[in-house]
Amino acid sequence: MKKYILALDQGTTSSRCIVYDKLGNKIGEAQRELPQIYPLSGWVEHDPEAIWSTQLYAIETAVKRAGIDPSEIAAIGITNQRETTVVWDKRTGKAICNAIVWQCRRTADYCEEIKKSGYEPVLKEKTGLIADPYFSLTKVRYILDNVDGARDLCEEGNLAFGTVDSWLIHKLTNGKCHATDASNASRTMMYNIHEGKWDEDILKHFSIPESMLPKVVPSSGYIADAEILGTQIPICGVAGDQQASLFGQCCFNSGDAKNTYGTGCFLLMNTGMDAVRSKNGLLTTVAWQIGNELTYALEGSVFIAGAAIQWLRDGLGILASSSDSEKMALDIPNTDGVYFVPAFTGLGAPHWDPDCRGLICGLSRGTDRRHIVRAALESMAYQTLDVLTLMERESKTEIPALRVDGGASANGFLCSFQADISGKAVIRPSNTETTSLGAACLAGLGCGLYDSVEEISSLSNSSTVFEPKMDASVRDEYISGWKNAVKKTGLR
Ligand code: ADP
Repeated sequence: MKKYILALDQGTTSSRCIVYDKLGNKIGEAQRELPQIYPLSGWVEHDPEAIWSTQLYAIETAVKRAGIDPSEIAAIGITNQRETTVVWDKRTGKAICNAIVWQCRRTADYCEEIKKSGYEPVLKEKTGLIADPYFSLTKVRYILDNVDGARDLCEEGNLAFGTVDSWLIHKLTNGKCHATDASNASRTMMYNIHEGKWDEDILKHFSIPESMLPKVVPSSGYIADAEILGTQIPICGVAGDQQASLFGQCCFNSGDAKNTYGTGCFLLMNTGMDAVRSKNGLLTTVAWQIGNELTYALEGSVFIAGAAIQWLRDGLGILASSSDSEKMALDIPNTDGVYFVPAFTGLGAPHWDPDCRGLICGLSRGTDRRHIVRAALESMAYQTLDVLTLMERESKTEIPALRVDGGASANGFLCSFQADISGKAVIRPSNTETTSLGAACLAGLGCGLYDSVEEISSLSNSSTVFEPKMDASVRDEYISGWKNAVKKTGLR
């Protein structure tokens, strides 16, 4: 009986594999760190062979630990760090240089040139993205312009580009399949999210031949057979990490939203078949494609969330561990007017000011480290609220409840405060590894293990619900204090 699903979760710092059964229970898992390469300040690379070898190790180890036979695996689902760019020679199957990681800022000047040239509004309209080095387009251009022989190989039709999902599919199929799914394609800044295809004008404008691009396939459905573990296993689900987590959180309806509290926060809201255009710096992206139907999402991010807690621990040394923050915060009734705006690298949506900087304000003689720790946790909730409010305004849709995951969602104080300050229920599933679960569900749906998304919704990922309890007047006072603090960062 083919009853298990292999979820491959290729992240920025590690490659993981989780074996799920049909009910969404974890049967086995394994993980291996991925070495980071920093050739220059602000540059980040990965060795594509290391991406593959760590992923393969995780697959083999997870299956062994699960104690199952590879013949019992119904399908593979892939989720991955997004935007990271790999370029390989189609003849040898080998990458021609290191992968340029999403975090890498080497194309910042080039993005400035794009903005000055007046082409950014065209990119934004077609792709839903802003001209930023994160996205794959300028990374591909960098490789074509700077790697010896790349342009020639490309003109001969011998180069292939792919995000990490494509690279894994290439490796899993021994070079037989060059494909990506629509959610990953929508992060390349070359994909027209409204028409659902690579955009000819953009490709022409940046001299990128379509011959190097992968075929775009639905996020759920048969893609190709992986030749691993001495057998053939169909790959039936693919999505970028944030989109996979939206799916794993069962955010299937328009207005459903999830927030991932990690180093930063990623807030995504399902907007259904409507690709909502943002005027205030949210991104419009493909959530997933099932059959011919594209589902869209609005995406907003907070740059510094859990990282503020890390800074209190490692920079100030006032916390022994991240998880201690909960007990300290609960030891006092409130911050006594202390606010912490962790604008270490400026502020993102809805402010978009890269130059303002962080602050802690409202200090009095009675302030101690508990107030500062609590203010740091509260800042995650306030920043999330700012993005959430903007999303509701721009989509003209009310978000009924917020589903949460990510490392810092383990903090119960944070979840309750988020519910209080946003006046919405906060739902935390017991399996907060929603990214791999989402990939598994896409694959399960794609291979027929599940008949519908309704069946996936009924899987028992039990959850804790945090209901809002704060008085509206107290909430308004807190929020206005936060807004005042944000103004003091030197915001333009
Ligand atoms: P990422 O995937 O971005 O590396 P994770 O989802 O693993 O991040 O979350 C790690 C972040 O969450 C760290 O910044 C850490 O400080 C923070 N964190 C982890 N546990 C807690 C906790 N119990 N309370 C508050 N913050 C936490």
